[in-house]
Amino acid sequence: MNRRALDELKQQIPLLEYLQAHDWQQARPIGFGRFLGLCPLHADHQPSFLVDPHKNLFHCYGCRRGGDVIRFAELYHQVEFPQAVALLRQWRGMAPLLHEADRFYRVQLHRHGESVAYLHQCGVRSPELIEHMRIGYAPGGCLRGWLTQLGYPLPALHQAGLVTAVGYDAYIHRIVFPLEGNLYGRSLSDSAPAHRFLPGAKGGLYAWAQAQSYPEVILVEGLFDYAVLWEAGFRNVTCSLGTHLNAQQFRQLCDGTRTVYLAFDADGNGSGQQAAQCLSRSLRERGVSTRLVSLPEGHDPNSFFVTGGNAHEFHHLLAEACR
Ligand SMILES: [Zn+2]
Repeated sequence: MNRRALDELKQQIPLLEYLQAHDWQQARPIGFGRFLGLCPLHADHQPSFLVDPHKNLFHCYGCRRGGDVIRFAELYHQVEFPQAVALLRQWRGMAPLLHEADRFYRVQLHRHGESVAYLHQCGVRSPELIEHMRIGYAPGGCLRGWLTQLGYPLPALHQAGLVTAVGYDAYIHRIVFPLEGNLYGRSLSDSAPAHRFLPGAKGGLYAWAQAQSYPEVILVEGLFDYAVLWEAGFRNVTCSLGTHLNAQQFRQLCDGTRTVYLAFDADGNGSGQQAAQCLSRSLRERGVSTRLVSLPEGHDPNSFFVTGGNAHEFHHLLAEACR
């Protein structure tokens, strides 16, 4: 890729927009149009990450790193320059489409009583939480029409995985959560597979930018587990979307000094606990301290709260968690 193409890529991806899409929240404007916030690249407790949207540059006073959006992608995803460029190009292509789909799904949520009823049943009630997680609903049968009307060609929708090969909406009757470069869809009905992602990576740990600044982090399997903990006031929580962590998620947990509380499902067959033990060993080998949280048998954090558990009781489980 030549210099001009690189400059063009940087122009098309404003650093601030990219940061915000990766959950960065600027703490405050500090004059000359610049912003200061927590550093997404190291365990930061005081805002030390400066962004200048006009120059499209960042600098961190904590870890002393800085540069442009490509440099940020290299550091954030821990990849080499060519991979960072490839990730950014892919993001540039997909981001506007996913953003539109996400916006559409969020409008649908409040038009379909069944989706709100389902959320209630899963302990998701407050408008703040729905807003925080940007939760939407895919009724099926109308996303394609909406996006094509906006000018997105059908092959692009198919390539993104939003529409099937025969032209139907891929997500039907699913609660939708936007992720980093993907959309997770949870089925309302038992007849369809419960979990679905669009093709491509599921991204890093969920809401990591917020969780990573805490010395103790709670890791859960599912977004509904994340949701009830957030609703109960926990902010040091993150989610791996399954028990198997991808390389990016694993690196995120290893980067910095912290204790990770693994609160995976206590399934009857022990698979969640086995996965937690296995992950705990791998993290310890990398010098990360871990605790295994034991939920009552048959429960996950979501069902623990939905069946009446409260923050006080969950704090008790954390205190009891074994090394
Ligand atoms: Zn930093």
